[in-house]
Amino acid sequence: MTMTLPDVSVFEAVESRVRSYCRGWPTTFHRARGSRLTDEDGHVYLDFFAGAGSLNYGHNNPVLKRALLDYIERDGITHSLDMFTTAKRVFLETFRNVVLRPRDLPYKVMFPGPTGTNAVEAALKLARKVKGRESVVSFTNAFHGMSLGSLAVTGNAFKRAGAGIPLVHGTPMPFDNYFDGTVPDFLWFERLLEDQGSGLNKPAAVIVETVQGEGGINVARAEWLRALQELCHRQDMLLIVDDIQMGCGRTGGFFSFEEAGIVPDIVTLSKSISGYGLPMSLCLFKPELDIWEPGEHNGTFRGNNPAFVTAAAALDAYWADGQMEKQTLARGEQVEQTLLAICAEHHDEVAGVRGRGLVRGLEFTDPTRAARVCRHAFGLGLLVETSGALDEVVKVLPPLTVSEDELDEGLAVLARSVHETR
Ligand code: PLP
Repeated sequence: MTMTLPDVSVFEAVESRVRSYCRGWPTTFHRARGSRLTDEDGHVYLDFFAGAGSLNYGHNNPVLKRALLDYIERDGITHSLDMFTTAKRVFLETFRNVVLRPRDLPYKVMFPGPTGTNAVEAALKLARKVKGRESVVSFTNAFHGMSLGSLAVTGNAFKRAGAGIPLVHGTPMPFDNYFDGTVPDFLWFERLLEDQGSGLNKPAAVIVETVQGEGGINVARAEWLRALQELCHRQDMLLIVDDIQMGCGRTGGFFSFEEAGIVPDIVTLSKSISGYGLPMSLCLFKPELDIWEPGEHNGTFRGNNPAFVTAAAALDAYWADGQMEKQTLARGEQVEQTLLAICAEHHDEVAGVRGRGLVRGLEFTDPTRAARVCRHAFGLGLLVETSGALDEVVKVLPPLTVSEDELDEGLAVLARSVHETR
């Protein structure tokens, strides 16, 4: 006889202990639309988490859903490794016309496998192959993914420990403002590069997030990014911008580095590139770096055609006319004002407000408070998560399509949660 376990306990009985988000949000989600999710009991939650940045256009966005349903209905190709398909052609043409050409970016596009860490691995491999060097410089509090190459350039001690082997060929340097503005930018980094006695192996590349999403919403200033690019040029190192979480409009512009006016040698993109929560990632690089041998880096799920379809539809719908950026900056301002008001009201407990565009953070002096705020907010129908080395920051990451009213509603819940967890 087949025994059926109660619905809730099947997760505990069968699924590994490694699961984590479900611990902070202990309910079973059933449906979702736009900025809201509904659980099996009919409770509705406002989503200021957006699939960790994978749902910039909201859940089941109707424009993307229509394109996807039409494509499936006409028996479009689903799986194709790296064969040519109509869906891939449409995506590449749209990406070139809507994203690359208007920004005068010359990049070649590589499909490295479906997740963010696949793109990071490809970027690191390519940089090492181009420069013939092993070492890559990353920054304090960086997060680049959970596979071994990406972990080696990730800061978080807990995540790194999970590797179970030494993580090598990565060297951490201080991110912008690591010393609270007391040390000139790149003093340590440049000294090590120039000192023949420093012991630093000459790096092939530097990998950086313009805003560290998992590391605590740490924003690199535009002038710091420009100085980093200059340092890379002077020292013959490639500049990799990991735009997996901050790209696709999260900070305003399609790429988060646009504001700084830099042109990285390599860019990684994933999360919201499909726009629908479907796995897809890209590694972009300057054409002269395209020295791969055919098949030298491959993977079974590089040709996720339904993702190409929704990605092309999202670019057409949201990026062809420049409106998205303006809206994101305006909504970001709205969030910032409310967070500053919360900060002013709770100045002993809130250490500061951080962020750009629609990625914002509220840092607490007592790190445990951020988790309590998130838990309380969940009880009041709002999904927000923590970030930072000590999980000391409440991270506000709504879909970019969130309405002003939804933002006001969620921010009011957040303010109430801060107040009621004192
Ligand atoms: N890089 C950055 C900046 C990220 O934020 C993440 C995920 O949060 C990754 C890489 C890894 O992406 P994935 O979890 O899809 O492997």
